[in-house]
Parts: sequence; structure tokens; C-alpha cells
Amino acid sequence: MAHQPEEPERYVCEGCQAVYAGTAYAEDGGHSFEAPTECAACGSSSFVRFVQWTHHSSSET
Ligand SMILES: [Zn+2]
Repeated sequence: MAHQPEEPERYVCEGCQAVYAGTAYAEDGGHSFEAPTECAACGSSSFVRFVQWTHHSSSET
């Protein structure tokens, strides 16, 4: 298995585009990340994964 430093998933707030690091939680012998429940800046609870967000933006040219 490739040894890579673990990087938290990042999420983008749909309301104001603030970027948050996902919160890590344990899951079946490994761990996953989840979006914050609420944006501290605008109060929105809609988050898009950073990867999906960049795909979304680049397809809009
Ligand atoms: Zn926000």
C-alpha cells in the first residue's frame, strides 16, 4: 500500500465559498471526513466537496 500522509477532505460553503477542513471521525477500522454542520461565516449548512467544487467551476468556462 502506498504510504501517503493523510489529508483531510476539504469542503466549500455554497453560501460564501469559505473553505473548511473536514472533521475526521472513526469508521470501520479507518476514518473518514465529514463537512462542518454550519458555516461560521454565513450560517449556511450546504457544503460541496472541494474536488467537486473545482470541477464545477472549471466546467463553467
Ligand atoms: Zn458560508
